[in-house]
Amino acid sequence: MIETIEENTMGTLDEVATGMASMGIGRYALPNGSMGQGMSCVLAPVEQENVIIGMGSVVEVQGVQWEVVRIKKSPGEPGFVTLQRWGHVAPGDNLKRANLDFRFSTSCPRCGELAGWNGGIEEELGEPVMSMECLYCGDEFVWYNGTLAKVLKSEPPEFVPGAEAAIQGS
Ligand SMILES: [Zn+2]
Repeated sequence: MIETIEENTMGTLDEVATGMASMGIGRYALPNGSMGQGMSCVLAPVEQENVIIGMGSVVEVQGVQWEVVRIKKSPGEPGFVTLQRWGHVAPGDNLKRANLDFRFSTSCPRCGELAGWNGGIEEELGEPVMSMECLYCGDEFVWYNGTLAKVLKSEPPEFVPGAEAAIQGS
């Protein structure tokens, strides 16, 4: 699960209301005990102490650990922080797994977890690309594979939801 909270707003980490404010260059704690330096912000989860976080920080919110995977602030615009929940089993995984075809799978460009084909084939620059969905963060993206492209053009595969991995992508 991935959550993004905008500067000076309340967002959620899963279901926990969490505010974010005070973005600026600063020092923040990293999980290995050292201090990082760079863009930081103050995270304010409900019923918890405020904590200063930055890229790579891990913060525990109501027993769940979240890692900062993106933090960005441009002058004159509201910044944002994106956190990813630790752990590799998200609720709904099995349901999602049954809806994707893992004979065609690759790693998610957003979170690095396993993504499978959701049955869609699109075209980009005249080449067939497969529509993929990440098992972990739910991100949808198109995937081009030079080896598969030829097959997709001549003989589009049948979508088999829940099929196990046979072709591993990069
Ligand atoms: Zn993902």
